[in-house]
Amino acid sequence: MPELPEVENVARMLRPEVVGRRVVEAQVLWPRSVARPTPEAFCRDLVGREITSLGRRGKVLTLGLSDGWWLLVHLRMSGRLLLGRPEEPAPVHLRAVLRLDDGRDLRFVDPRKFGRLWLVQDPAEVLGSLGPEPLDPTFTVEAFQARLAGRRVRIKPLLLDQRFLAGVGNIYADEALFLAGIHPCRPAGSLTEGEVERLHGALQEVLAAAIANGGTTLSAYRRPDGSPGEHQALLRVFRRAGEPCPRCGTPVVRAVVGGRGTYFCPRCQPGQGR
Ligand SMILES: [Zn+2]
Repeated sequence: MPELPEVENVARMLRPEVVGRRVVEAQVLWPRSVARPTPEAFCRDLVGREITSLGRRGKVLTLGLSDGWWLLVHLRMSGRLLLGRPEEPAPVHLRAVLRLDDGRDLRFVDPRKFGRLWLVQDPAEVLGSLGPEPLDPTFTVEAFQARLAGRRVRIKPLLLDQRFLAGVGNIYADEALFLAGIHPCRPAGSLTEGEVERLHGALQEVLAAAIANGGTTLSAYRRPDGSPGEHQALLRVFRRAGEPCPRCGTPVVRAVVGGRGTYFCPRCQPGQGR
């Protein structure tokens, strides 16, 4: 599933292509891809509007539109936004198309159909419950510490909770916990000040590195030009069970934590007891 770095890459690549373009035609091929409003109202209210900005909040792409409207796109498991020309054959699994005033199509392709589109006037309807952005300057060590204090839940599932922190998913949670030397099952509120500081730094480091490397492609994720990301070669523990830990050589272990496959080094990220 695309996480913060992958969605950020999609936003960065699409931004110069679509900002300033006007939607001249809209078509929904799979009605359930549109979460809000109805597919008919979605198309009607998109047509004629200009795309004025393209950003990201958590794992959601945010396209600002003229007259204060917003198109929000969650790629979920397998969604992609691709630019194409109408004369090219439509890709398989095409769920929605926006024809732009430069003659190109902005295509929402989604084999597994979990992705969702929203057309809203108040983005808080969709984004309001999201936690802080991990790379935002306001997300300080102190702010992180305050959010962790007193929490008895395990740290890994908490990092995946989008209301706690926006944009982190399974890959980068494991990578950050490894880098910080923290066991994924540690109670969140039990982290020492030093560990909180290390984890804060590790989250920012792994996310920034993955953004710079074009994101991680393990299966579906592609950038808008169709190219894969390059960060997968640099993952330290994720999906590396049995391989030597890059720090100490102990084989990386896989466990299921909170229902998610979780990878860690049992030596560098010791026990749950503390
Ligand atoms: Zn190790």
